[in-house]
Amino acid sequence: VWQNCLKVIRENITEQSFKTWFEPIVPYKLINKRLIIQVPSQFFYEWLEDNYVKVLRKALDFAIGKDGQLEYSIIIDRGAPKAQVTPLKIVEPPKKEYYNGGFKNKQDPPTNLKNPFDFKALTDAQHESFLNKSYSFENFVEGDCNRLARAASYAVAQKPSTTSFNPLMIYGGVGLGKTHLVQAIGNYIESQSETPKFVLYVSSEKFTSQFINSIRENSLQDFMAFYMQVDVLILDDVQFLSGKEKTQETFFHIFNHLHQSGKQIVMTSDRSPRELSGMEDRLLSRFKWGLTTDIQAPDLETRIAIIQNKVEEEMAEMDDEVVEYLAHCIDSNVRELEGVVISLIADSSLTKRKIDLDMAKFRVKSIVEESQKVISIDKIIEEVTSFFEIKIADIKGKTRLREVVLPRQVAMYLAKEMTSLSLKAIGYHFGGRDHSTVIHAIQTINDLIGVDKELAANVKALKTKFKY
Ligand code: ADP
Ligand code: MG
Repeated sequence: VWQNCLKVIRENITEQSFKTWFEPIVPYKLINKRLIIQVPSQFFYEWLEDNYVKVLRKALDFAIGKDGQLEYSIIIDRGAPKAQVTPLKIVEPPKKEYYNGGFKNKQDPPTNLKNPFDFKALTDAQHESFLNKSYSFENFVEGDCNRLARAASYAVAQKPSTTSFNPLMIYGGVGLGKTHLVQAIGNYIESQSETPKFVLYVSSEKFTSQFINSIRENSLQDFMAFYMQVDVLILDDVQFLSGKEKTQETFFHIFNHLHQSGKQIVMTSDRSPRELSGMEDRLLSRFKWGLTTDIQAPDLETRIAIIQNKVEEEMAEMDDEVVEYLAHCIDSNVRELEGVVISLIADSSLTKRKIDLDMAKFRVKSIVEESQKVISIDKIIEEVTSFFEIKIADIKGKTRLREVVLPRQVAMYLAKEMTSLSLKAIGYHFGGRDHSTVIHAIQTINDLIGVDKELAANVKALKTKFKY
């Protein structure tokens, strides 16, 4: 019976859709005129239900008759939270009644879609993973700051979707190696795995724009079909999905489907899931199924090793004293560290001069100046208020409560130190205070830092947040 159904279905939809949505279905039972089919996930069933009602009806008419009925059962293998070795199990089909006469008024899926991202070409031809081959485990320097993240990544790379690290979520500040690590996972799987695997690296930004485009171009089906086939999905910078409800919802479905079909998911974020505001709880709770691990800023030794590695990679030379100087100066962002090393190497080959301490100092100085310029006062206010757990409205408002006054003064002090704004401009950003208030704030904090160790440490910690 199912074969007959498939025949009808195949004639009515695209090959791609057929492959994605109907080939995975397993006919389970035929009881009287009720056909029960097994589908791989809840989402799969919902998708069929939403998009292929008519064609399924047609197929049933043909294969069973007008009173033929269809029921779904959802296969749970490697079932979610508890993971691992749950044997194949059949769950109760969803309660809704289908195909009892009048069915939903849904459009047939459009067949020849224009597609801005050409998912079909991608899926039919060899899969293109969008991986950057230059990121590997070999050229990733291990240190205390990233040991766990690296170990988890390596485990996933060796045995995708069979470890309990599914999903694997790596979070940490800008330029600390998240993208490097997850790309290394992808590259490793692509090159080492015995059976070919479709590894896909995508930034959350690109995912979002693909999604939006597919809606605009009426090709959501191709978009979904494309993502459904991925064996290893690497989604970079998920914080970008914050507040984008529809995109999150779609990712949630893809996530569920892939996870339930035993596919590996890897994600990164610039902050911990706890701090990801604007994310749906049900999505966040999925992250907990696997492993969440952070990457910290590298310590001095790791920074030295990273510089040495880079110098070696570029087949250049750098004296230890220069290496140490750089490692001391640039302590919070590996990308910036690399940038300085590369530009020094370039300078030296242009000027045919050996890299010396003066050159290094000059470079570092310009980098620091550059980074100070781009720090915005809004960013400072944001960081300070979240650090002291007060409201932005309060820091800009009139209140003279000590819990607010001190953070306000700290923020003004940092604004003076780290931006090129005038005192007047700074006052303006704090609810239109005048420049003498700002001067007073700066003096107060300067004085306090000398005597109050805790405050001094807090200010220092805040400053490092703006280093990149
Ligand atoms: P993120 O995605 O966390 O912002 P990236 O992965 O893009 O950071 O890393 C920034 C740069 O620093 C990349 O060129 C990367 O290769 C390099 N890098 C970061 N951490 C390391 C490390 N531990 N070893 C070697 N290179 C690193
Ligand atoms: Mg990145």
